[in-house]
Amino acid sequence: MRDAKISTRAIWAGEKESLAFGATQVPVVHSVSFGYDDMDEWYDVAVGKKKGHIYGRNTNPTVEAFEGKIRDLEGAEAATSFSTGMAAISNTLGTLLYPGDRVVSIKDTYGGTNKIFTEFLPKQNIDVVLCDTGDHEEIEREVAKGCKVLYLETPTNPTVKITDIERVAKAGKKAGAIVIVDNTFATPINQQPLELGADLVIHSATKFLGGHADALGGSVCGSKDLVDSIYHYREINGATLDPMSAYLLLRGMKTLKLRIDKQCENAMAIAKYLQTVDLVESVFYPGLEDHPGHEIAKKQMNDFGGMLSFAVKGGVDTLRHFLPHLKFANKAANLGSVETVVGPSRTTSHVECTPEERAAMGIPEGLIRYSAGIEDVDDLIQDLEQAFQKIPANIFVNS
Ligand SMILES: *Cc1c(COP(=O)(O)O)cnc(C)c1O
Repeated sequence: MRDAKISTRAIWAGEKESLAFGATQVPVVHSVSFGYDDMDEWYDVAVGKKKGHIYGRNTNPTVEAFEGKIRDLEGAEAATSFSTGMAAISNTLGTLLYPGDRVVSIKDTYGGTNKIFTEFLPKQNIDVVLCDTGDHEEIEREVAKGCKVLYLETPTNPTVKITDIERVAKAGKKAGAIVIVDNTFATPINQQPLELGADLVIHSATKFLGGHADALGGSVCGSKDLVDSIYHYREINGATLDPMSAYLLLRGMKTLKLRIDKQCENAMAIAKYLQTVDLVESVFYPGLEDHPGHEIAKKQMNDFGGMLSFAVKGGVDTLRHFLPHLKFANKAANLGSVETVVGPSRTTSHVECTPEERAAMGIPEGLIRYSAGIEDVDDLIQDLEQAFQKIPANIFVNS
């Protein structure tokens, strides 16, 4: 498969071994167990000497097809899957980290990941150092002091900050760390972390991979040794991907390239439009030349992604008068879907923080996260325009 282009592999990869009865589509196998009349065959499958399935918490043909596809798209030796993106992250960290270990990461990771770093790992006597996102010197300095895991996410949520994966992965390798990248925002269409030196790539498949906001899931890709050990942790701890979700994710992934291309195109046009709007204070999109991560993004990404954010003047008051008027956008917490999705950071990604904490992270109260869908971009821009007109001028008097 590796000699075909990624759009072709998104359609064909991973499926063949799970097909049955001449069906051209992967079946949703709901069976919890897989039976054997031949005791020797059963034993061989159970100990991994022969390919096959025993019990649904461990493996399943539909789930295996999903794993095969994401493994191929990330160019990895192996892949395993999880019930959610957070399960992928917690199971991976749970496999690799023990009391006394040290982790280096960044301040802008996904909210749930940040909670693992600040709330759960410290309770296990695991030392977590969170560097300023984008401060490559600080990351390199902390990594050089020694760490078991260097954990990255780029672009980040919600201000789409960029970290140079190749540069800090080099520092990670030198320190003997396992380098992990959450590639949810970029997807394998736009960014290939393993090629840039990462050891493991994580996805919340719930987002762009599935692309239709109708299934939760997660994945980890990397070397067989690492992935096998994470799979073992997951099969015992039980955060297994459901076969029906695996099927929905698999189907969504067939159109990944088409969707991502369109979402990138729409996001860029919307970012440029927002820069011309008086009521908009700032626009964050790595495709804009004034974005601090623009040059690195240009180097390590094929395109700049479907995620952007922007701050409106007047803060929360303005949000109340603006967001409800958008017709072609779900006001919701997810992202990466075919529909445009919008939400204020104070309600979605950074709801646990105080306004002061958000300010310290460079997140204005009026910040809106915008996940561009695949609608016609003229309609999306018109929709924004009419919603901006609904903001009453008098709300700016006191702000
Ligand atoms: C949503 C998200 C996660 C968590 O995924 P779930 O499927 O919701 O558990 C992790 N990382 C990033 C970047 C995300 O956007």
